[in-house]
Amino acid sequence: MSKNTPITVAYGDGIGPEIMEATIKIITSAGAKLDIETIEIGEQVYLRGNSAGIEPGAWDSLRRTKVFLKAPITTPQGGGYKSLNVTTRKTLSLYANIRPCVSYHPYVSTKHPVMDIVIVRENEEDLYAGIEHRQTDQMYQCLKLISRPGTEKIVRYAFEYAVANNRKKVTCFVKDNIMKFTDGLFHKVFDEIATEYPEIKNEVWIVDIGAAKMANTPEDFDVIVMENLYGDILSDVAAMITGSVGLAGSANIGENFAMFEAIHGSAPRRAGQNLANPSGLLLGAVMMLNHINQSETATKVHNAWLKTIEDGIHTYDIFKDNISKEKVGTKEFAKAVIERIGEKPVKLRSAEYKGKIKKDSSNKTAKKTIKQNKTLVGIDVFLDWSSGSADDLGGIMKKIKSDRLKLISISNRGETVWPDGHPETFCTDHWRCRYLSENKGETVPRSMIIDLLTKINDAGFDFIKTEHLYNFDGVAGYSHAVV
Ligand code: NAD
Repeated sequence: MSKNTPITVAYGDGIGPEIMEATIKIITSAGAKLDIETIEIGEQVYLRGNSAGIEPGAWDSLRRTKVFLKAPITTPQGGGYKSLNVTTRKTLSLYANIRPCVSYHPYVSTKHPVMDIVIVRENEEDLYAGIEHRQTDQMYQCLKLISRPGTEKIVRYAFEYAVANNRKKVTCFVKDNIMKFTDGLFHKVFDEIATEYPEIKNEVWIVDIGAAKMANTPEDFDVIVMENLYGDILSDVAAMITGSVGLAGSANIGENFAMFEAIHGSAPRRAGQNLANPSGLLLGAVMMLNHINQSETATKVHNAWLKTIEDGIHTYDIFKDNISKEKVGTKEFAKAVIERIGEKPVKLRSAEYKGKIKKDSSNKTAKKTIKQNKTLVGIDVFLDWSSGSADDLGGIMKKIKSDRLKLISISNRGETVWPDGHPETFCTDHWRCRYLSENKGETVPRSMIIDLLTKINDAGFDFIKTEHLYNFDGVAGYSHAVV
């Protein structure tokens, strides 16, 4: 007989305890072999003064089990509380967020009867690094960070997911017509990795039109891989257009840890009334069973759930007079699913799980990072300045010279305003002065940069940040201002 798998469970807040109880009852009735460790997270933990909503001791359980089944929590009103989800993702390096978005026509009403999309969202990088600064009276910035290893991991995960789950196509959404370096890298890595999976179709869409297409004809998509922000937004859109956000589960996967949950919140107004739909958490738990290689049980639970939905046994949130047969509460819904263990849906497509994705993405990733020859060729100096026009600033700055470094251009919000700017261009108090080596591409010693900054400082300018300009194997590693 196979051994039990230890998992960590948090019952959460609001409807959390009811839907977790229902979920655990269903999966154990189907034969899930689990040793459950319970931890406390959420509102009460926050209110006891723990700003992350999780007790330090709870990490010990997570480190032991490496698998976390989590009910939704309530974040208390007011500031100072950190998102528990973000903390968990970052602490446990859960780099991939997997969210299947499926419609269950005609049993759950939807504008999109044919929809079976899986969103694979990068979970650690992008604008979510949380590195933000206020730089001037007028200007605030947030850093968008995209790394090659981070991108390789998520893109490879998307293709491996497609192979393991018998999916036919992986689509990538990017905005590399504008962000040529960050989104350009994501696109390039996608193209590279796609060649290793000739059996899976691949395509790339610019995220705006891709998103519009996804919302209009979701049947054209299969697996979609995205950076963090696009994935955050579009995974909600995708879940919503299936007809019910309440039915979607999600997995957060890392090399060593994994967390599974429903995508909805703690619905406090529905708490304690035996009303809530446990389906989102249950489908999260199904993904967990597959992850811990109890795939047979995962398949059984998912199919029993599909049959229950097909039989019209619905909680209030999806109940429709003309479609549903019986309106049930949380407990009765769980009972109905348990009664159907061993059955399969007749009309809806049945589920079949094959276990955790086996290939270790990190091994392949390491090979790709090739060290290139990096040379310093200039510097962007950002100024907080509001004492005149672009031409005034250009006139002053071009006189500030350091050996071999020359002022090439000044831009404001990315638009070149000197030399030859347009007087119509609106300028803020945030200016970028680009200095490049006089002999194009020639390496600049750091001392020369320090000398230039000293001169800018001595001239009374408030330089608020600098960015070094590097060439990599002779190719510029910086964007050019839009002219
Ligand atoms: P919500 O998802 O809790 O509720 C939105 C709507 O959907 C409500 O009308 C609710 O009654 C309904 N609903 C949600 N889940 C349902 C279910 N399983 N069955 C039946 N109806 C359901 O979102 P919200 O109201 O914006 O947030 C409530 C709380 O949840 C907030 O404190 C928020 O911070 C938290 N939240 C937590 C998570 C999480 O822990 N992962 C995610 C989102 C929101």
